[in-house]
Amino acid sequence: DKPKARYKRILLKLSGEALIGDGKYGISPKTLVAIAQEVKDVVELGVEVALTIGGGNIFRGVSGATEGMDRSSADYMGMLATVINSMALQDALEKMGVSTRVQSAIEMHQVAEPYIRRRAIRHLEKGRVVIFAAGTGNPYFTTDTAASLRAMEIHADVLLKATKVDGVYSDDPKKNAAATKFRSLSYLDVLKKNLKVMDSTAISLCMDNDLPIVVFDLTARGNVRRVVVGEDIGTTVGK
Ligand code: UDP
Repeated sequence: DKPKARYKRILLKLSGEALIGDGKYGISPKTLVAIAQEVKDVVELGVEVALTIGGGNIFRGVSGATEGMDRSSADYMGMLATVINSMALQDALEKMGVSTRVQSAIEMHQVAEPYIRRRAIRHLEKGRVVIFAAGTGNPYFTTDTAASLRAMEIHADVLLKATKVDGVYSDDPKKNAAATKFRSLSYLDVLKKNLKVMDSTAISLCMDNDLPIVVFDLTARGNVRRVVVGEDIGTTVGK
Protein backbone atom coordinates (compact mmCIF):
# COMPACT_ATOMS: atom_id res chain seq x y z
CA ASP A 1 0.00 0.00 0.00
CA LYS A 2 1.14 3.49 -0.83
CA PRO A 3 1.82 5.60 2.29
CA LYS A 4 -0.26 8.72 2.44
CA ALA A 5 1.49 11.92 1.49
CA ARG A 6 1.33 14.81 3.88
CA TYR A 7 1.32 17.37 1.09
CA LYS A 8 -0.70 17.58 -2.08
CA ARG A 9 1.53 20.00 -3.94
CA ILE A 10 5.17 20.73 -3.20
CA LEU A 11 7.86 23.00 -4.52
CA LEU A 12 11.28 21.44 -4.28
CA LYS A 13 14.24 23.80 -4.44
CA LEU A 14 17.56 22.26 -5.47
CA SER A 15 20.80 24.18 -5.51
CA GLY A 16 22.94 23.98 -8.60
CA GLU A 17 25.64 22.39 -6.46
CA ALA A 18 23.39 19.41 -5.85
CA LEU A 19 24.09 18.36 -9.44
CA ILE A 20 27.87 18.44 -9.18
CA GLY A 21 28.22 15.08 -7.44
CA ASP A 22 31.86 14.08 -7.07
CA GLY A 23 33.07 16.59 -9.63
CA LYS A 24 34.21 20.20 -9.14
CA TYR A 25 31.66 21.96 -11.34
CA GLY A 26 28.98 21.25 -13.89
CA ILE A 27 26.62 18.32 -13.94
CA SER A 28 27.25 14.73 -12.91
CA PRO A 29 25.01 12.39 -14.94
CA LYS A 30 25.03 9.88 -12.09
CA THR A 31 23.87 12.45 -9.54
CA LEU A 32 21.25 13.66 -11.97
CA VAL A 33 19.76 10.18 -12.17
CA ALA A 34 19.76 9.85 -8.37
CA ILE A 35 17.91 13.15 -7.94
CA ALA A 36 15.45 12.33 -10.71
CA GLN A 37 14.72 9.04 -8.94
CA GLU A 38 13.97 10.91 -5.70
CA VAL A 39 11.52 13.10 -7.59
CA LYS A 40 9.93 10.12 -9.32
CA ASP A 41 9.39 8.45 -5.93
CA VAL A 42 7.19 11.29 -4.74
CA VAL A 43 5.39 11.69 -8.04
CA GLU A 44 4.38 8.04 -7.63
CA LEU A 45 2.79 8.90 -4.30
CA GLY A 46 0.43 11.14 -6.23
CA VAL A 47 2.07 14.36 -5.07
CA GLU A 48 2.15 17.29 -7.48
CA VAL A 49 5.76 18.39 -7.85
CA ALA A 50 7.24 21.67 -8.99
CA LEU A 51 11.00 22.17 -9.06
CA THR A 52 13.30 25.17 -9.00
CA ILE A 53 17.00 24.65 -9.57
CA GLY A 54 19.84 27.05 -8.93
CA GLY A 55 22.78 27.63 -11.21
CA GLY A 56 25.69 27.84 -8.79
CA ASN A 57 27.37 24.77 -10.29
CA ILE A 58 27.83 26.71 -13.53
CA PHE A 59 27.70 30.43 -12.81
CA ARG A 60 26.81 32.70 -9.94
CA GLY A 61 26.13 36.39 -10.48
CA VAL A 62 27.86 37.64 -7.35
CA SER A 63 31.15 35.96 -8.19
CA GLY A 64 31.07 37.39 -11.71
CA ALA A 65 30.37 40.83 -10.26
CA THR A 66 33.23 40.63 -7.79
CA GLU A 67 35.52 40.01 -10.74
CA GLY A 68 34.46 43.22 -12.40
CA MET A 69 31.38 42.29 -14.41
CA ASP A 70 28.25 44.34 -14.26
CA ARG A 71 26.08 42.67 -11.64
CA SER A 72 23.04 42.51 -13.89
CA SER A 73 24.93 40.89 -16.76
CA ALA A 74 26.43 38.38 -14.38
CA ASP A 75 23.02 37.65 -12.88
CA TYR A 76 21.46 37.06 -16.29
CA MET A 77 24.25 34.59 -16.98
CA GLY A 78 23.39 32.90 -13.69
CA MET A 79 19.77 32.65 -14.76
CA LEU A 80 20.81 31.04 -18.04
CA ALA A 81 22.81 28.53 -16.01
CA THR A 82 19.60 27.51 -14.22
CA VAL A 83 18.03 26.82 -17.62
CA ILE A 84 20.86 24.41 -18.44
CA ASN A 85 20.31 22.62 -15.13
CA SER A 86 16.56 22.51 -15.67
CA MET A 87 16.99 20.92 -19.08
CA ALA A 88 19.38 18.35 -17.65
CA LEU A 89 16.91 17.37 -14.95
CA GLN A 90 14.07 17.30 -17.43
CA ASP A 91 16.03 14.89 -19.59
CA ALA A 92 16.76 12.60 -16.64
CA LEU A 93 13.13 12.61 -15.51
CA GLU A 94 11.70 11.96 -18.94
CA LYS A 95 14.08 9.01 -19.39
CA MET A 96 12.49 7.52 -16.28
CA GLY A 97 9.04 7.99 -17.74
CA VAL A 98 8.13 11.04 -15.68
CA SER A 99 6.29 13.61 -17.72
CA THR A 100 7.73 17.13 -17.32
CA ARG A 101 7.56 20.69 -18.56
CA VAL A 102 10.21 23.36 -18.22
CA GLN A 103 8.88 26.90 -17.87
CA SER A 104 11.40 29.67 -18.17
CA ALA A 105 11.13 33.17 -16.74
CA ILE A 106 13.27 34.31 -19.68
CA GLU A 107 11.60 33.40 -22.94
CA MET A 108 13.37 30.69 -24.87
CA HIS A 109 10.74 29.11 -27.07
CA GLN A 110 12.95 26.44 -28.59
CA VAL A 111 13.80 24.81 -25.28
CA ALA A 112 11.16 25.79 -22.75
CA GLU A 113 7.66 27.11 -22.35
CA PRO A 114 7.39 30.66 -21.11
CA TYR A 115 6.33 30.92 -17.48
CA ILE A 116 2.54 31.08 -17.42
CA ARG A 117 1.15 30.58 -13.95
CA ARG A 118 -2.20 29.06 -14.85
CA ARG A 119 -0.59 26.76 -17.35
CA ALA A 120 1.91 25.59 -14.75
CA ILE A 121 -0.96 24.72 -12.42
CA ARG A 122 -2.71 22.84 -15.19
CA HIS A 123 0.43 20.75 -15.81
CA LEU A 124 0.64 19.96 -12.11
CA GLU A 125 -3.00 18.89 -12.01
CA LYS A 126 -2.26 16.52 -14.87
CA GLY A 127 0.57 14.97 -12.88
CA ARG A 128 3.43 16.57 -14.81
CA VAL A 129 6.50 17.79 -13.01
CA VAL A 130 6.97 21.48 -13.71
CA ILE A 131 10.52 22.81 -13.62
CA PHE A 132 10.76 26.57 -13.16
CA ALA A 133 13.86 27.83 -14.93
CA ALA A 134 15.64 31.21 -15.08
CA GLY A 135 14.75 32.15 -11.53
CA THR A 136 12.46 35.15 -11.27
CA GLY A 137 13.78 36.54 -14.55
CA ASN A 138 15.23 39.49 -12.64
CA PRO A 139 18.81 40.25 -11.67
CA TYR A 140 19.61 40.90 -7.99
CA PHE A 141 17.43 37.95 -6.98
CA THR A 142 18.26 34.34 -6.20
CA THR A 143 16.67 31.05 -7.09
CA ASP A 144 15.65 30.75 -3.43
CA THR A 145 13.50 33.82 -3.91
CA ALA A 146 12.24 32.42 -7.20
CA ALA A 147 11.32 29.20 -5.37
CA SER A 148 9.37 31.12 -2.70
CA LEU A 149 7.61 33.24 -5.29
CA ARG A 150 6.61 30.31 -7.48
CA ALA A 151 5.55 28.28 -4.46
CA MET A 152 3.19 31.09 -3.51
CA GLU A 153 1.88 31.51 -7.04
CA ILE A 154 1.04 27.85 -7.51
CA HIS A 155 -0.32 27.53 -3.95
CA ALA A 156 2.18 24.88 -2.93
CA ASP A 157 1.63 23.43 0.54
CA VAL A 158 5.30 23.60 1.40
CA LEU A 159 8.67 24.68 0.10
CA LEU A 160 11.24 21.90 0.43
CA LYS A 161 14.72 23.32 0.53
CA ALA A 162 17.23 20.61 -0.32
CA THR A 163 20.73 21.06 1.10
CA LYS A 164 23.84 19.08 1.94
CA VAL A 165 23.20 19.09 5.71
CA ASP A 166 20.32 17.49 7.56
CA GLY A 167 18.76 20.73 8.76
CA VAL A 168 19.54 24.14 10.18
CA TYR A 169 22.28 24.35 12.81
CA SER A 170 23.26 27.02 15.30
CA ASP A 171 26.65 27.12 13.58
CA ASP A 172 28.41 25.32 10.73
CA PRO A 173 28.43 21.69 11.96
CA LYS A 174 31.44 20.92 9.75
CA LYS A 175 33.53 23.55 11.52
CA ASN A 176 32.03 23.64 15.01
CA ALA A 177 31.41 20.33 16.81
CA ALA A 178 29.24 22.11 19.40
CA ALA A 179 26.73 23.27 16.77
CA THR A 180 23.20 22.05 17.51
CA LYS A 181 20.42 21.27 15.09
CA PHE A 182 17.05 23.03 15.27
CA ARG A 183 14.01 20.86 14.69
CA SER A 184 11.82 23.86 14.11
CA LEU A 185 12.35 27.59 13.82
CA SER A 186 10.25 30.65 13.26
CA TYR A 187 10.83 32.87 10.25
CA LEU A 188 11.85 35.66 12.62
CA ASP A 189 14.43 33.42 14.32
CA VAL A 190 15.97 32.73 10.95
CA LEU A 191 16.10 36.42 10.07
CA LYS A 192 17.27 37.63 13.50
CA LYS A 193 19.93 34.99 14.00
CA ASN A 194 20.95 35.34 10.38
CA LEU A 195 20.77 31.56 9.94
CA LYS A 196 21.76 30.27 6.55
CA VAL A 197 18.45 28.83 5.40
CA MET A 198 17.72 30.99 2.40
CA ASP A 199 18.40 34.66 1.72
CA SER A 200 16.32 37.19 3.63
CA THR A 201 14.18 38.15 0.63
CA ALA A 202 13.08 34.54 0.24
CA ILE A 203 12.44 34.09 3.97
CA SER A 204 10.44 37.33 4.20
CA LEU A 205 8.27 36.30 1.30
CA CYS A 206 7.49 32.97 2.98
CA MET A 207 6.86 34.71 6.29
CA ASP A 208 4.46 37.27 4.84
CA ASN A 209 2.47 34.51 3.15
CA ASP A 210 2.69 31.73 5.75
CA LEU A 211 4.44 29.25 3.54
CA PRO A 212 6.22 26.57 5.59
CA ILE A 213 9.76 25.60 4.64
CA VAL A 214 11.41 22.24 5.34
CA VAL A 215 15.20 22.22 5.13
CA PHE A 216 16.59 18.72 4.65
CA ASP A 217 19.54 16.69 3.38
CA LEU A 218 19.19 15.68 -0.24
CA THR A 219 22.32 13.53 -0.24
CA ALA A 220 20.65 10.79 1.84
CA ARG A 221 18.69 8.50 -0.47
CA GLY A 222 14.91 8.56 0.03
CA ASN A 223 14.82 11.81 1.97
CA VAL A 224 12.48 13.67 -0.36
CA ARG A 225 9.96 10.90 0.11
CA ARG A 226 10.53 10.90 3.88
CA VAL A 227 9.74 14.59 4.09
CA VAL A 228 6.71 14.20 1.87
CA VAL A 229 5.17 11.39 3.93
CA GLY A 230 5.69 13.51 7.04
CA GLU A 231 8.68 11.90 8.73
CA ASP A 232 10.25 14.27 11.17
CA ILE A 233 13.56 14.96 9.48
CA GLY A 234 15.35 18.22 8.84
CA THR A 235 14.26 21.57 10.17
CA THR A 236 10.83 23.10 9.69
CA VAL A 237 10.54 26.86 9.44
CA GLY A 238 7.13 28.35 10.09
CA LYS A 239 5.26 30.91 12.19
N1 UDP B 1 19.67 34.69 -10.52
C1 UDP B 1 19.10 35.94 -10.70
N2 UDP B 1 17.75 36.09 -10.48
C2 UDP B 1 16.94 35.07 -10.08
C3 UDP B 1 17.53 33.80 -9.88
C4 UDP B 1 18.88 33.64 -10.12
O1 UDP B 1 19.77 36.88 -11.05
O2 UDP B 1 15.73 35.28 -9.91
C5 UDP B 1 21.09 34.48 -10.85
C6 UDP B 1 22.06 34.95 -9.75
O3 UDP B 1 23.18 35.49 -10.37
C7 UDP B 1 22.43 33.64 -9.07
C8 UDP B 1 22.45 32.68 -10.23
O4 UDP B 1 21.36 33.10 -11.05
O5 UDP B 1 23.70 33.74 -8.48
C9 UDP B 1 22.30 31.22 -9.89
O6 UDP B 1 21.32 31.02 -8.92
P1 UDP B 1 21.66 30.73 -7.37
O7 UDP B 1 22.96 31.34 -6.98
O8 UDP B 1 20.46 31.12 -6.60
O9 UDP B 1 21.84 29.17 -7.45
P2 UDP B 1 22.16 28.08 -6.30
O10 UDP B 1 22.97 28.74 -5.23
O11 UDP B 1 20.85 27.61 -5.79
O12 UDP B 1 22.89 27.04 -7.07
